[in-house]
Order: sequence, then structure tokens, then C-alpha cells
Amino acid sequence: MTQVADICGFHAHVYFDAITHRTAERTRDALARDLGVNVGAFHERPVGPHAKAMFQVTITPEQFATVVPWLMVNRSGLSVFVHPTTDDSVADHETSSLWMGEPLPIDVEVLRRFVESARLGRHACNEHALERVDLLRRPVDDITRSVSSLRSTEGREGPACPRPERPSERSG
Ligand SMILES: [Zn+2]
Repeated sequence: MTQVADICGFHAHVYFDAITHRTAERTRDALARDLGVNVGAFHERPVGPHAKAMFQVTITPEQFATVVPWLMVNRSGLSVFVHPTTDDSVADHETSSLWMGEPLPIDVEVLRRFVESARLGRHACNEHALERVDLLRRPVDDITRSVSSLRSTEGREGPACPRPERPSERSG
């Protein structure tokens, strides 16, 4: 069973289109300014498993109880997808997630294909990197080739989420 301690953080993905772009900008600004959370760039077209333009909010476990309720009452009609980040990015998106507002398709297959071909599924919190390199929609061979370049940049940036030692693993 996955333990809550296996969750090293959360993402909220806030979706928008041409009509709601300005609303998304205001929401993103308020998250950064008023809540001090780490907000990502606007992805103006579908990226990774996401079917629509969106921006990502990176939420630490400590910020969850503040940021998620804030989104509940301030999302201004935008669809929001919240998922944990664990070692299993397929489960994170497929079974461990929640929606606010209208649910949208999540292409878990493209994520599964990447994890299986790249064997990156056991690395914690790598989805942010996967989204950044924007290669999830490419054919498997292309993905496999791209993984070596992804790996070569991994060390430089350090772990996205250094995991604290779990009490059960401590000696004595
Ligand atoms: Zn995410």
C-alpha cells in the first residue's frame, strides 16, 4: 500500500483556453503573490498527459491545506486537476487524483508508455522534468533516445524532492 509519507508533494494543473486566458493569468498571479507557491509557465498547447493548455502549481505537503481550499473557492470556473507526486506517476494521474470543476481527459497511456520505455517510473517526482522536456507525445523510439539527454541533466538540477527518512526505516 502507498503510504502518505511516499507523497513528496502535489501538482495542481489549472486549465484554460483563449477565452479564459486572462482569468488563468489572474489566478496564477494570485497564487504566486498571495500564497507564495511555485507556479509554472503557461503551456499554451497540450503537453504530457494533459489535453488542454494549462499551468502547473507545485504544492508541498505543508502547503496543501492552504492551496487546495484556496483553489476550491478561487478557481473562477477553471478546471483544476490535483495529483500527488510519488514514485508511481501513472497511479498519481490515474487513480490518486482529484478534479475541481469539469474533468478533462488525462492521457495516462502516454505516461505509461514513457515510464515503461524509459524505466523512469521508480524515480520520485520526475514528472515535472518530463513535462518540461515535452516529449511524451512522441513515438517510443524517440522517447527512448530523449531519455539519455533527460538523465544527463538530472544530476545538475538535483532531486526535485529529497525524501526524509521514514521512521520505520530508521535503525533502533
Ligand atoms: Zn503534474
